[in-house]
Amino acid sequence: MTNHAHPHDDDWSSAGFSTRAIHAGQDPDPATGAVVPPIYATSTYKQDGVGGLRGGYEYSRSANPTRTALESALAAAEGGAAGFAFASGLAAEDTLLRATLRPGDHVVVPNDAYGGTYRLIARVFGPWGIEHTPVDLSDADAVVAAIQPGRTKVVWVETPTNPLLGVADIAVLAAHARAAGALLVVDNTFATPYLQQPLALGADVVVHSTTKYIGGHSDVVGGALVVADGAQLPVGLESPTGTTNLADAVRFHQNASGAVAGPFDAWLTLRGLKTLAVRMDRHESNARAIADFLVAHDAVTSVIYPGLDSHPGHEVAARQMTGFGGMVSFRTGSEASALAVCGATHVFTLAESLGGVESLIEHPHKMTHGSVAGTELEVPDDLVRLSVGIEDVADLIADLDAALAEGRAA
Ligand SMILES: *Cc1c(COP(=O)(O)O)cnc(C)c1O
Repeated sequence: MTNHAHPHDDDWSSAGFSTRAIHAGQDPDPATGAVVPPIYATSTYKQDGVGGLRGGYEYSRSANPTRTALESALAAAEGGAAGFAFASGLAAEDTLLRATLRPGDHVVVPNDAYGGTYRLIARVFGPWGIEHTPVDLSDADAVVAAIQPGRTKVVWVETPTNPLLGVADIAVLAAHARAAGALLVVDNTFATPYLQQPLALGADVVVHSTTKYIGGHSDVVGGALVVADGAQLPVGLESPTGTTNLADAVRFHQNASGAVAGPFDAWLTLRGLKTLAVRMDRHESNARAIADFLVAHDAVTSVIYPGLDSHPGHEVAARQMTGFGGMVSFRTGSEASALAVCGATHVFTLAESLGGVESLIEHPHKMTHGSVAGTELEVPDDLVRLSVGIEDVADLIADLDAALAEGRAA
């Protein structure tokens, strides 16, 4: 690679995943040679004469060099044309929905969507005139039946889903969405770009809660959008800037609504992204061992992990992912035993969220998915969700074994 004077302009697009995650957008600082992009804690930038911007930077809501580094790296990691970093995953989703929907439009949502995504679409966008239909995304015929041609502008996909780890066929759903003039959005938080590349499978835009695996250390909240090369707004829609280009529309809304990632958060998230591949390899091997342990355990009535042959989405997952990830859910047969297991672990920490190096356990019905209780998205009350961390797997298994014994007693 030649040494460019200006940061962020090396082309890493033909490099492998980890090379892109570690280098794209992160050329050494031209002024000092700093190997790591600095935290540019500045709100504004000196202009060399009115309108004489250095490197295009004017005001940090519009752009900040630390955020630019993260956005470039995320775009490279997902194989997209443009990345956008936000204050949270839901802020990213909110901006995307504002950019792509107008009153009277309709959205197809997964019937086991992330609770906060469902709440945003149903309870924030609903009153602004957006209708939605929850559907089982593993059933392509049901998705086709739910699409209202001319009205459906977004088909929202999560795969694997949270917390039931349902698997949807991205390529098939992308074709159906395109035929109806709708966008295919994939929330790639659970799989990560290391294990699944939705844009290459035909998605228009990828959503992330970078709070999870990309940040990876449970120390920062953030979100991202990555837009596919050439992606357009839903048929018939123009952005307020008069373009139909989806990345331009998202850029306009990111600046106009302003839910951006701050430079400290962008820096931490970028630090996490660099080690994503090695972390995911360990998350996955630990998760696989734990899934096998749980399958053989008589206090467990069922185990949900896309890597198991018994999982209904196993074949699709094996085709469209390069690994099955670090999330494992299981059922214990009663709410009391599920709650007892969640309260009895010592290595697994009882907490919401996922994707960090430390293992977490939770009861979705009462915790992460409490906001969807009583709706079609309600999850079983004997379900336990594990975010398997990267500790020594023998310690994780011993911890679960002891907790399951307490669950059985409950
Ligand atoms: C956490 C999460 C979100 C929301 O992200 P925040 O960073 O918490 O706003 C969206 N989708 C999925 C799959 C998540 O796990």
